[in-house]
Amino acid sequence: MRVLVIGLDGGTFDIIKPLTASGKLPTIGKLMRNGVYADLISTIPPVTSPAWPSFMTGKNPGKHGIFDFVGKGRGYSKVIKNAKDIRAKTLWRLLSDTGKTCIVVNVPVTYPPERIRGCVVSGMLTPPGACYAYPLDIYEELKKMGYSPHREGVKKCSSPEKLLNYLVKTASKQSEAVLYLMDKFNNCDFCMTVFRETDIIQHTFWRNKVVIFELYQKIDKFIHDLIEMAGKETNVILMSDHGFGPVSKFFHVNYFLYKLGLLEFTENSSSSGDYLIIKDYRKRKTAFWKALLKIGITKERVYRFANKANLIPILQQVSRKISIGLPKTKRVIDWKRTKAFFSSSVGPSAAIEINLQGREPEGIVKKEEYDEIRELILQELLRVKDPENGRNIVQDAFRREDIYHGPYISEAPDIIFLTNNLEYGATDRIYGNHLVSEPVRKGRGSHRMNGIFIAHGPDIKNAGDYLGRSRIIDLAPTILHMFNLEIPEDMDGKVLINIFKPGSPIAKRPIKYRKITEEEKIKEKIREIRIKLNRRFSS
Ligand SMILES: [Zn+2]
Repeated sequence: MRVLVIGLDGGTFDIIKPLTASGKLPTIGKLMRNGVYADLISTIPPVTSPAWPSFMTGKNPGKHGIFDFVGKGRGYSKVIKNAKDIRAKTLWRLLSDTGKTCIVVNVPVTYPPERIRGCVVSGMLTPPGACYAYPLDIYEELKKMGYSPHREGVKKCSSPEKLLNYLVKTASKQSEAVLYLMDKFNNCDFCMTVFRETDIIQHTFWRNKVVIFELYQKIDKFIHDLIEMAGKETNVILMSDHGFGPVSKFFHVNYFLYKLGLLEFTENSSSSGDYLIIKDYRKRKTAFWKALLKIGITKERVYRFANKANLIPILQQVSRKISIGLPKTKRVIDWKRTKAFFSSSVGPSAAIEINLQGREPEGIVKKEEYDEIRELILQELLRVKDPENGRNIVQDAFRREDIYHGPYISEAPDIIFLTNNLEYGATDRIYGNHLVSEPVRKGRGSHRMNGIFIAHGPDIKNAGDYLGRSRIIDLAPTILHMFNLEIPEDMDGKVLINIFKPGSPIAKRPIKYRKITEEEKIKEKIREIRIKLNRRFSS
């Protein structure tokens, strides 16, 4: 195996460094000492959904189209994004297209699983009950092993210790599954897996370092096993999609806009309200399957047949949608009197959308007013103070074109901002007449911009150098270069050439770029048209 990538969702040096210093993470410590490491700068927002697609495509969100967990749905509703929404080739697609075999396990936003040489076992955002692996026999084998991409047991864990025990079990199961797949595809060239457990425990119990440390130590052992299994000739990358830190307060963004006179509420709580749509690619309709079962046709039999006949992609297009009601606040937005509104998932970074005429269903802002309103909001965001301590609430605020570029930028929110030191969780919830509020549950954590990057192996410098900052988009081109493959010229990331041993063949060989062919451009256009048509049909 040429490259093994292990992801720790939300993994941070703030936890790792004190542990390696006291010898408590023997594997990670060794990788750092005998390899290189750097801070890995996430996407804006530093959220799982844009960050992992940026890793896997080497592109900024303007080129792959995932700006948040959610994107625009019907009306003012939101739709959860999945792998079908990533409009750029993934690293494993590129590797697979050149004949390389890949194992990809539990990477977020990989459902529905891509058909590549090797296997994809989808991760976070896989709908419950869905077929989470390609090819199908892998799905069946993993299911028999009791493997699941879901972490639904988290909700039942009432104490830090219970959560720790549960997460150690799920991480262990995942590690077993990856070892099994490494053995099965023993000629594989690339393997990647992401442990989500670090993100989960840090969100819930950031202040409880005892359980966090314990989980990292357990995962250190799983990392050891994976590296051993991969063998000495493998270059190892350990990385995270974003860092972590405490959440001290909530910033009520819609209240901020209301105070600026840009958002109005109606007391009519029976208004259409908000809802969230999860696209589901489950290949079953309950009543239909029940009827088939009666005559002895099982889902598995149909899948097996479909797999043989190469019909899986067609089955996968038969999507089903589930609507989930979001908790309604008593105060509903009066769209006909609203010029701007909160439009993202809740987090230390958030987005605001202008209620633009012709674009939003009940838009009232004219095109010629757009710039003025946007500039006003940007200015006010940078000025708004926490009434309790006089500190700025917002650290940075951007126009979408300040931070993104590419064909899908028109789908990005109009304004994206980061809260001060990322310690405020921006939310759309309304809490009386409060601009900020204290979280009900204390001691929680949330994301930061700086994740981790550690590289170690036969081609990597071995003096334990700290290389400063790298970007999450740099890893895909760097990995392609490790395979001596051409890098598509529209990737935004750069090869991290300074991680390689000086004088080694990888360090010496020229970086090869590949022009995007006319044929590929046309294919991309057709894909776009298809997506647009689908959207028109579904709305
Ligand atoms: Zn998280």
